[in-house]
Amino acid sequence: MIIELKNVSKTYHVGKKEKIKALNDVSLKIEQGLFACVLGVSGSGKSTLLHIMGAIEEPSNGSVTYDGIDISKYNDKKRSKFRNKNIGFLFQDYALIPYKSVEDNLRVPLYFSDYKLKDFDSIINEKLGEIGLLEYRKRRINSLSGGQKQKVALARALVCNPSVILCDEPTGALDTCSTKEIVDLLHRINERGTTIVVVTHNPLFAENTDLNIQIEDGYVRKCMY
Ligand code: ADP
Ligand code: MG
Repeated sequence: MIIELKNVSKTYHVGKKEKIKALNDVSLKIEQGLFACVLGVSGSGKSTLLHIMGAIEEPSNGSVTYDGIDISKYNDKKRSKFRNKNIGFLFQDYALIPYKSVEDNLRVPLYFSDYKLKDFDSIINEKLGEIGLLEYRKRRINSLSGGQKQKVALARALVCNPSVILCDEPTGALDTCSTKEIVDLLHRINERGTTIVVVTHNPLFAENTDLNIQIEDGYVRKCMY
């Protein structure tokens, strides 16, 4: 899918008077299959951009389209459905259910999908196999290391075969070794045609990418192909 943001701005209202402009007139286009990296310092608007791109938050102005369709115009139900089907997410804090098993965590997005209950087990096996975590299937999340948790989160992001994976500082809490594993896995997934967008301040992600977007104080300063 082609993701396109046109003149996107986001203003947060804090209290009665204060306004924070997190994004200013951002326009960008990400073609299907690209590995894109959004770089910027803390507070520059990266997470806001990713949330708007993933239809978790609405822009104050402007539009977000997937293959020309403005998903910000969808109602909540339709938007959730769209996300479930097309977008996988990876967050710095994994966003897994800690007291549940690996397989139960992977089951969650499947429940909201059109996949049949009888196929869940084989889908979960396939995705855990791809990430190299098959033997961890029954393990509880809170018994895993940070790197293993992020791999589970990646398997969960893949479970409904999204065309896009949006990542917010996916290695922000990881050691160098696990960071490299996640970077390599994302590149391997990208090679099969899945679009990857990583927002980060880690320059490691800006290597071997198709597109680097530099963001500063809510403005896109540079787009490099
Ligand atoms: P980054 O991910 O690059 O660190 P963010 O997108 O999280 O940046 O934040 C950009 C700016 O918007 C910051 O000044 C931040 O404090 C502000 N901001 C983000 N989310 C909110 C919110 N929910 N309410 C108010 N201000 C916010
Ligand atoms: Mg952030």
